[in-house]
Amino acid sequence: MTVINSHRKAKALKQGSRRPAKDLCSECGLCDTYYIHYVKEACAFINQQITELETIAHGRSRDLNNENDLYFGVHQEMMSAKKIEPIEGAQWTGIVSTIACEMLTQGLVEGVVCVQNSDEDRFQPKPIIATTTEEILGAKVNKPTLSPNLSVLEQIEQSGMKRLLVIGVGCQIQALRAVEDKLGLEKLYVLGTPCVDNVTRAGLQKFLETTSKSPDTVVAYEFMQDFRVHFKHEDGSVEKVPFFGLKTNQLKDVFAPSCMTCFDYVNSLADLVVGYMGAPFGWQWIVVRNDIGREMLDLVKNQLHTQPVISRGDRTQAVQNSIPAYDQGVTLPMWAAKLMGVVIEKVGPKGLEYARFSIDSHFTRNYLYVKRNYPEKLKDHVPEYAEKIVSQYKLPD
Ligand code: FAD
Ligand code: SF4
Repeated sequence: MTVINSHRKAKALKQGSRRPAKDLCSECGLCDTYYIHYVKEACAFINQQITELETIAHGRSRDLNNENDLYFGVHQEMMSAKKIEPIEGAQWTGIVSTIACEMLTQGLVEGVVCVQNSDEDRFQPKPIIATTTEEILGAKVNKPTLSPNLSVLEQIEQSGMKRLLVIGVGCQIQALRAVEDKLGLEKLYVLGTPCVDNVTRAGLQKFLETTSKSPDTVVAYEFMQDFRVHFKHEDGSVEKVPFFGLKTNQLKDVFAPSCMTCFDYVNSLADLVVGYMGAPFGWQWIVVRNDIGREMLDLVKNQLHTQPVISRGDRTQAVQNSIPAYDQGVTLPMWAAKLMGVVIEKVGPKGLEYARFSIDSHFTRNYLYVKRNYPEKLKDHVPEYAEKIVSQYKLPD
């Protein structure tokens, strides 16, 4: 009890004030609450402790000699899945929102931490504790900006809720796990999504304006397995821009420094992870990490088509080629980018091998970023699994 009470004396930081992680802050929301008391241990960018927290959350840390564990974290099972009846307007088919709704209506939890958008701006995140299915569905679709999901943590303790589901991305979940035993909960469920290349609201505007033909009408976007960015517009049309045609020289500084130093793409500490990158196009990718995750997935299994994960192709040369291309900010002319996209889509990595392609390209890029910008952090901040992944490639100095 003394532990639970001690943090209440701490004071949340004022909005806009500098956070303890300084430039590396991902605005996870912890410092907007009195749980800032634990920031030095809890912050993913001050104290990377994935291995230790894996053991607490899943009963073991990942086995670095097992390739699927090395890449995708501790898991019991992976599969491809899609909703038999997709939720209109969800990011993909709405598996995340469906699980949250079932957990609430079946009484497993009293509330769900998720993120809606503000009334004025569809991309401005507004974290809430949802207590109705309408509120959960109001949070569907990605807010592709840094989102302070943990800013509602104080309300949990004050509300007296004992059973809670939290939906979030890796940095939010890492801080959450570090304070989990201080929240006064009887049961916590954690539903994660993978996350990469996130941006501030201002950074998002720059990305949309540099990349889309109609930035003001974009309602959602995703970096897809066909090596194109798909922008969904208000009128339902989809604009596709090849990765290789992105204006990398202008976009180099657009991603948040936190995301340039992140090695938790696959949300290692969630009980259940729902993404897309390990699945064939049009399907979602599910990683069941532990028994709690299995319990959550079982609630919706009858609403899903499922199939085993596949893995085809060889990513390594494409990753090696991407390293200097990104480093030097090379942009191909649009006709060449389209051609390259088509060729790679035909012969390129598929399923889990595509996910490895994406992890390898981001980890090598981020490793170089940390080495150049935060050399003093390299040793402690880069987890051992990420070092092993990066060591497969030749990196420039
Ligand atoms: P929905 O039913 O539409 O629900 C989406 C849920 O996400 C909502 O509950 C909402 O609360 C939550 N959410 C939205 N924005 C945020 C945010 N900024 N922070 C925390 N929670 C949020 N998957 C991959 O496989 N590879 C990737 O590279 C990848 N990158 C991603 C980057 C970002 C910034 C985000 C937020 C997600 C990313 N994902 C990625 C996950 C993927 O895009 C989908 O979110 C996931 O597959 C769930 O789809 P759905 O239709 O089931 O979700
Ligand atoms: Fe605080 Fe979260 Fe920022 Fe770390 S990332 S400084 S915990 S708000």
